[in-house]
Amino acid sequence: MTLLRFKMLETAMSHTPVEVAAPSNNPSDYFGEKVFGRKQMRKYLNKHTYDALMDTIDSKTPLTPDIADAVAAGMRQWALEHGADHYCHWFQPLTGGTAEKHDSFASLDGSGGILEEFSGKVLIQQEPDASSFPNGGIRNTFEARGYSAWDPTSPAFIVDTTLCIPTVFIAYTGEALDYKTPLLRSISAVDEAATEVCKYFDRNVERVYSYLGWEQEYFLVDDALWSARPDLVQTGRTLMGHESAKNQQLEDHYFGAIPLRVLAFMKDLEYECLKLGIPLKTRHNEVAPNQFEVAPIFEEANLANDHNQLLMTVMDKVSRRHHFRVLLHEKPFKGINGSGKHNNWSLGTDTGVNLLKPGKTAFENLQFITFLVNVIAAVHRHNGLLKASVMSATNEHRLGANEAPPAIISTFLGTQVSSVLDKIENSQSDEDIRFDAKNIFRMSGLTQIPTLLLDNTDRNRTSPFAFTGNRFEFRAVGSSDNCADAIIVLNTAVAEQLADFKREVDARIEAGEKKEKAIYEVVRELIRRHKAIHFDGNGYSDEWKAEAAKRGLDCETSTPLVFDRYLDESTVRMFENTGVYGKVELEARTEIKWEMYVKKIQIEARVLGDLAMNHIVPIASKYESVLLDKAWKMSQLGIKSATDSELIKTIQDRTATIQTLVHEMIECRKVANRIEDIREKAIAYHDTVAVYFGRIREQIDKLEEVVDDQIWTLPKYREILFIK
Ligand code: ADP
Ligand code: MG
Repeated sequence: MTLLRFKMLETAMSHTPVEVAAPSNNPSDYFGEKVFGRKQMRKYLNKHTYDALMDTIDSKTPLTPDIADAVAAGMRQWALEHGADHYCHWFQPLTGGTAEKHDSFASLDGSGGILEEFSGKVLIQQEPDASSFPNGGIRNTFEARGYSAWDPTSPAFIVDTTLCIPTVFIAYTGEALDYKTPLLRSISAVDEAATEVCKYFDRNVERVYSYLGWEQEYFLVDDALWSARPDLVQTGRTLMGHESAKNQQLEDHYFGAIPLRVLAFMKDLEYECLKLGIPLKTRHNEVAPNQFEVAPIFEEANLANDHNQLLMTVMDKVSRRHHFRVLLHEKPFKGINGSGKHNNWSLGTDTGVNLLKPGKTAFENLQFITFLVNVIAAVHRHNGLLKASVMSATNEHRLGANEAPPAIISTFLGTQVSSVLDKIENSQSDEDIRFDAKNIFRMSGLTQIPTLLLDNTDRNRTSPFAFTGNRFEFRAVGSSDNCADAIIVLNTAVAEQLADFKREVDARIEAGEKKEKAIYEVVRELIRRHKAIHFDGNGYSDEWKAEAAKRGLDCETSTPLVFDRYLDESTVRMFENTGVYGKVELEARTEIKWEMYVKKIQIEARVLGDLAMNHIVPIASKYESVLLDKAWKMSQLGIKSATDSELIKTIQDRTATIQTLVHEMIECRKVANRIEDIREKAIAYHDTVAVYFGRIREQIDKLEEVVDDQIWTLPKYREILFIK
C-alpha cells in the first residue's frame, strides 16, 4: 500500500459517527419549519391575500400585482425572522440538478442607508443570465434571454440563509428551458383528461392529481478514499477496480443492521429534510455493500419532484458533515448492483379516490379497471418513449446491461389482476355484465378484486413497470435522474390515451349503448389491443428479449438511438395535442440529451485514458522492472524461474495492450469530435469510443490482481466498499 493510500485508509477508519440530534423525537415539532407553507402563510398574510393566493394555487388564476406585493412582503418578513438574508429563484435547468442565483434583500434606501426589500415583481419574475444553461438551440434561433417565474404550487423554503423560490425557467418566446414547466403542463393534461373520464363514474370530481412517491437509492463512500479516486471525483463512478472477493454474494447487506456512522448520517439527513417539509419515512440498507435507500411519503407529483431535487442537494451537503460522499451515479461500481429511483405513480381525485385502487363494488371496480387498462394502453403505445425518458449515459449501465431493470418496457400485473383482465377479455359480455332489478350494475368477477389483492404477494422485481396494488412502480428511472422526464411522458401518454378512450365510449353511448356497457366494451377492446405490453415473467431472461422483439416492443439498447423516440411522429403528435411540448422544444431537448451523452462519454474517456497512462502503466512497469531485476540476478546464479518470467510476460502484455487501446480510443475520439451533427456524434461516441472502456478496464483490473499492493496507488474496492 502506498503511503497516500495508507493515510487515506487510516483516515477513513478513524471517522466515527457524528451525532446530530434533532431537538425532539417527534418530527411534528419541526416538520416544515423552513417552509413558507399554508400554516406560515396564514400567519404572515392577511386573509384577503391568503385567499387570493389559495385561489391562484387551486384554480391557477394569475396573481395580480397587488396580491403579489402583499405575498412578497409576508414572505420576506417570515424569511428574515427565520434567519434568511438572501433570496433566489430556484429552478431545474436541463443540465440536471438545480440552479440558484442569490440576491441579498438589501437595497439602497436613497439616503445613504440600506433597507431590506423584496417586491412582488421580484418574487414573481426574474431574468437570470441564462446563457450558460443548455437550450438545444432555442436561444440561438430565437431571443437570447430567458426568465424564471414563481410556481406558487410549490412553497418557498429556506436553505442555510437563503430563501429559495421554486420557479419555472422559460425562454422569452415561451419555450420551456427546464424540467418543471413541462411537468406542470403534463400534470394539467392528465388532470383534464382523467377528470372527464371520472365524470362517467362520479359527476362531483373536479380535479385529478398525479402522485409521485420516489425511492432514492445511493451509495456512501468515505471522503478520504473518495478523494484518492480521480475517477469517482470526476465522473461519479469507478472506471476501474477489481471486484472485492466478498461483495454482495452473501446477501448480508440488504435490510441488514445499518452501520452507526451511516445511521448518524441518515438521522441528520432526515432532520434536515423534515425541516424542509420533505416527508421522509423509510431508510434501509440496499443490496450492495455501502448502498442505501431513502423514501418519503408520496405527494402531488410537482411537489414530490421538487422535494427529490432538494433531497439530492441536501444529501450531498449533509454527507460531507459525516465525512462521506454520496454517489448518485447509477453504476458507481462494477460487479455489484447499481442504483435506481423507483417512481411510484398514481392518479387520485379531489374527492379522495385513488383511481388505481380496487373498490368495493362492481361499479367502483369498473372505474379501477378503466384507469388500469388505460395506463397499460398508454405504456404500450409509448413504450419506446418511456424508455427514452429514463435513458442516459449513466443509466445505460443499468438498462440493457444485464441488470435490473431490463431495457424493454413491459407491465407486470400479478396473477390476480391478470386473471381479472383475462376474464373480461374472454367474457361473453351479455352474461357477465348485467343490471339487476334496481338497475344496479353487476359484473361477475369484479366485485371480488379487493380481497384478492390483499394477497398480492407475487411482486416481480424484474419488471420495469409493475402494478403494486394501488399504484404503478416505474423502476427504470435512474438514481441521478430528475423524475420529471419520466413523469412527463407517463402523464402525457395517459392523458392522450384517456382522451381517446372517452371518444370511443362517447361514440358508443351516442349510438344508444348504456354507459357501463360502453365502458366495459372499450376496456375489453383495449385489453386485447395492448396485450403485448403485459409480461409477468422474468424480465432478465434472454427468452424475454426474443419474445419482446416478436411482440413489437422497443428493444433498442443504444442510448443515442433510444433518444430518437422523442422525435417520432406519434410522440410529437401526442405532446402537441396535449400542449405539453411543441416541436421546437422536443428538438431542443433531444439535442441536449445527445449533447450531454457526448460530454459524459468524452469526460470518462479522458479520465480513463489519463489514469491508465499515468497511474496504471507506470506502476505496473515499475513492478515489472523489479521482477526483471530479480529474474536477471537469479539467472546470474543459474536459477531458472519460469513463474517470474510468466508474470513479467503477463504484465508486459497487459501494459502494452492498455497503451495500444488508449491510443486507439484517443484516435476514435478525434474522429468523433470532427462530426458536426450532434446525433451522429453521439452515435460515434457510443459505437466507437465507449466500447473501449470495458476492454481497457479489463486489462487494468487484471493488473490490479498481480501488481504489488505496496505500490498500487488507487484505493481498492475492498477498501472503499466496507464502511464499518
Ligand atoms: P417498496 O420498497 O416496498 O416498493 P417503499 O416503502 O420503499 O416501498 O416505497 C414506496 C413508495 O411508494 C413510498 O414513497 C410511498 O409513499 C409510495 N406510494 C404508496 N402509495 C402510493 C400511491 N398511491 N401513489 C404514489 N405513491 C405511493
Ligand atoms: Mg423500497
